Amino acid sequence: MSNSPEHLLDSAGTFSDYLAQRTEPPIATSVLQGDHQTDVVIIGGGFTGLSCALALAEHGVSNLVLEAREIGWGASGRAWGQVAAAAKFMPAQVEKDFPPEIAERINRAAALAPDLVFGLIKQHGMRCDAVHNGNIIAAHNSDKAQWIRSTAADLQSRGYPVRLLVAGEAAALTGSPRYRCALIDERGGALNPLGYARGLVRAARDAGSQVFTQSPLLSLQKVGADWQVTTPQGRVIARQVVMATGAFTGNLLQSQTQQEIFPVRAYQAISEPLPAEVLSTLLPGGQPFNDTRRMFSGVRVWPDGRLHVGLDGPLFRANASGWLQGATKRLQLMFPQLRDLRWAYHWAGWVDMTVDHYPRLHRLAPGVLAAYGFSGRGVAIGTIMGRDLAHLALGHSEDQLVHPVSAVQPQWYHAIHRPLVQTLVTGYRVEDRHYDNQYARSVPSLHS
Ligand SMILES: Cc1cc2nc3c(=O)[nH]c(=O)nc-3n(C[C@H](O)[C@H](O)[C@H](O)COP(=O)(O)OP(=O)(O)OC[C@H]3O[C@@H](n4cnc5c(N)ncnc54)[C@H](O)[C@@H]3O)c2cc1C
Repeated sequence: MSNSPEHLLDSAGTFSDYLAQRTEPPIATSVLQGDHQTDVVIIGGGFTGLSCALALAEHGVSNLVLEAREIGWGASGRAWGQVAAAAKFMPAQVEKDFPPEIAERINRAAALAPDLVFGLIKQHGMRCDAVHNGNIIAAHNSDKAQWIRSTAADLQSRGYPVRLLVAGEAAALTGSPRYRCALIDERGGALNPLGYARGLVRAARDAGSQVFTQSPLLSLQKVGADWQVTTPQGRVIARQVVMATGAFTGNLLQSQTQQEIFPVRAYQAISEPLPAEVLSTLLPGGQPFNDTRRMFSGVRVWPDGRLHVGLDGPLFRANASGWLQGATKRLQLMFPQLRDLRWAYHWAGWVDMTVDHYPRLHRLAPGVLAAYGFSGRGVAIGTIMGRDLAHLALGHSEDQLVHPVSAVQPQWYHAIHRPLVQTLVTGYRVEDRHYDNQYARSVPSLHS
């Protein structure tokens, strides 16, 4: 099977009607035609590219966004919508993985990331159901309960507004008798991801960015000191090029980038509205919720009373219909009050995983920047990365960036990554099922 970015684009389906209905209409855009000149051309109309466009326009730098499909058509318009105050890993882990100065920058930016996102939403009046009231992580077994306790203590010692929830309080705030230990991080929140993407593009356009959709980059050529980007019907000459094409980046520019990204499918489903008596008990504080299991556990409730969950499914094919029943069973185990759960919408997206789950920021050539690899944490991190890209395009020092600029590190096993990832995930599923079965067996005693 082809692994080219075109293949990923072709097989990604579309974003959810539900998310589209709940936000502002897309701004009017056109297809790029004829010859254009700009300072920076940005490829990709997701959070990363749009955040970069907005930051550049705010600095008075001319820029032009080229999106192959529609704004938010990639991962950005399909996400679950959690805004977390953390990179993929907690601060203590980041400190183990990076030199102190870089770890400090990543942790500081991640801690402030929700304020940045919710601040932009407020400043630009974006219609995206933003709820800034924290997020909850619960332990699904006793080892993870220990991890939750030490993580809560560590975050509190850093001065963050994090609370440990134990026993009755954990059960009450999650709405599930399964969880006896959880933490709530009051910095986080949730939003409509497609609404956020549409709000960002409106803000960028209003600040001076030009935006073209249905205009895929076909080729990139050096022309003197500049770059020429060619699309099916147009050309752009720019001083700088920013690649913000997420999981689709593949070998658009350089075959080695393809060997650094591991695109994996992720699935989302939204239910019919739940009855009022169920809503009053399930995540009554309105926070998005995850537990510590390996595979998808995200659950949130929309203002119209629908459940929105991340669910497991085929890793490289597009359809999770056959997996909805399994998701229902698992949810009913977690939340026994969900007796009658009917699904109204479901969709798939591609997540741009990296081997260590940290994002990548590259100078692929003089004047060509790229960032990707948010590994399922791109709402806030993509927004930050867009600003890093803008700083680099403006010629600022790398010391002022959050993420380090690194060399592309192709992984030799990339050609066989699908069976490898499949094997790894099969192990994760077995592990999760073990704990689910253990819990299922203990349920009668919990209710006795
Ligand atoms: C199902 C799902 C759930 C998620 N949930 C969350 C969550 O709850 N919280 C969180 O923080 N993160 C989440 N993520 C991750 C987050 O959505 C992504 O990290 C983020 O959207 C990446 O943004 P981006 O702009 O880098 O890439 P994308 O949004 O993928 O944008 C890339 C764009 O590039 C365009 N493109 C590709 N090729 C070309 C070309 N040749 N020319 C022009 N344009 C091109 C694509 O059409 C696409 O629109 C989730 C992801 C998925 C898939």
